Amino acid sequence: MSESTPDSLPLPAWRRVLRAALLWFDTGADAVDGDPDRIDWLRVAPFIALHLACLAVFWVGFSWFAFWTAVALYAARMFAITGFYHRYFSHKAFKASRPVQFAFAVLGAASVQRGPLWWAAHHRHHHRHADTEHDIHSPRHGFFRSHMGWFLTRRAFATDLDAVKDLAKFPELRLLDRFDVLVPVLLAAGLYALGAWLESAYPGLGTSGPQLLVWGFFVSTVVLFHVTVTINSLAHRWGSRRFATRDDSRNNPLLALLTFGEGWHNNHHHFPGSARQGFAWWELDLTYLGLRAMAALGLVHDLKPVPPALRKARPEPA
Ligand SMILES: [Zn+2]
Ligand SMILES: [Zn+2]
Repeated sequence: MSESTPDSLPLPAWRRVLRAALLWFDTGADAVDGDPDRIDWLRVAPFIALHLACLAVFWVGFSWFAFWTAVALYAARMFAITGFYHRYFSHKAFKASRPVQFAFAVLGAASVQRGPLWWAAHHRHHHRHADTEHDIHSPRHGFFRSHMGWFLTRRAFATDLDAVKDLAKFPELRLLDRFDVLVPVLLAAGLYALGAWLESAYPGLGTSGPQLLVWGFFVSTVVLFHVTVTINSLAHRWGSRRFATRDDSRNNPLLALLTFGEGWHNNHHHFPGSARQGFAWWELDLTYLGLRAMAALGLVHDLKPVPPALRKARPEPA
């Protein structure tokens, strides 16, 4: 780490590439030195490649099978992010057994949004400092930074284990957090293999290995990513405020629909501990319905409700 202190020469280019490549696979490796608030282009190259790979839809073509695979993987991973990365790991809004906790941590990691400890540590930080100068993804620092610029910087790379001591005590979660990229790599390889097999076994489906990879992994993941992070960017800008919270959070029905309930973000900042973010009966919260279904099956329990006294609108003083 001392090679590139201000007194010494910067690392040669080949060593910087090697270090960045190591970080693609092992987030526990030593970070590349440099300005903590600048985008680390070498490290984020796979994230950019993920977007460029979507252009391959023009080459692999379309099939309804590939399309519905993309939709199903969007839905399953969105639920893992909203229900588990957010409401369970970040906010402890319900209880789950260790195997269920791990299964949904793995499914969440398939979203290419890093591991559950990294995600929860940054999210808890957001709630502690929402829309203050310390909030790393407040839109008060600009839309691009709130949407994605923040985690492309060196500052946001490491997992703050002190913020997630309750989660870090599980070795399987720490391991997943460190090597989270293995999960999406396996998903992508599995989709390619499935598509290649279906092409020969069921040619009527009109799919192929490259097509299922591009739609099921690249397109689905990029859409999932951008919809998820609208909660950091748009849901602190567009929508209504039922509660006069100290931050800029909003309730936005369109975002709530796309993110399975997370768009009721002003409700959420008002009372983050609840398993439910749609407080009113008409505020559709698909994640909460999914969690209720899981509770009925005995997979999760103790879903925390919204205390009745906290449900009443508390408007901003005029
Ligand atoms: Zn927020
Ligand atoms: Zn939250």
